[in-house]
Amino acid sequence: MPCISCARPGGPICEPCRTRLRSVPDRVLGDVVATATWAHSGPARSLVHRLKYDGVTAPADLAAAEGRVPDDVIALVPVPRVSARTVSYGVDPANAFARALGARLGLPVVRCLSAPAWSRRRAGRRRRPAPPRFRMAGDPIPRAVVVDDVITSGATVEAAAALVGAHRAVAITMAPGVKSRGGTGLPHTMRGRDVD
Ligand SMILES: [Zn+2]
Repeated sequence: MPCISCARPGGPICEPCRTRLRSVPDRVLGDVVATATWAHSGPARSLVHRLKYDGVTAPADLAAAEGRVPDDVIALVPVPRVSARTVSYGVDPANAFARALGARLGLPVVRCLSAPAWSRRRAGRRRRPAPPRFRMAGDPIPRAVVVDDVITSGATVEAAAALVGAHRAVAITMAPGVKSRGGTGLPHTMRGRDVD
């Protein structure tokens, strides 16, 4: 089995790639404490790309094996991919990660957020592109954790968590350059969790 990241022998991830996976400190993003399995660089970046664009779900399982959520979490709410992209790539990456985490931790995946059919690509020249306009069905779930594949600026998980009424987010990778900001709206027990 070839390595998912570099295609050399030794899958699902070869030893040289595994040793280059880096952890990333938790960040406070507005009213959300965000945690990721790996920093979005090197082989971790390739793993996420294989999941997002090739529909290879093994990276979600690998990340879930090392993923962390707080003990008091009762549900996992995936950030939905806009429908047009799920159709073109055949995978909803955050949902794949949420399912892998849920199976591992015995937590339900609640798909109460829906995405618009289409939104402009996140990659652009503006520093903080507007997050997709999600919709929330049902009552808020304060003890849920919002699940995404990648945290790039934090704007998307912040918007999703606000709709869910949650204060936690977890992702496969987080950009190492993401800086903590805000946090005054967090329950007091969750402030000061930035370990940068
Ligand atoms: Zn490799």
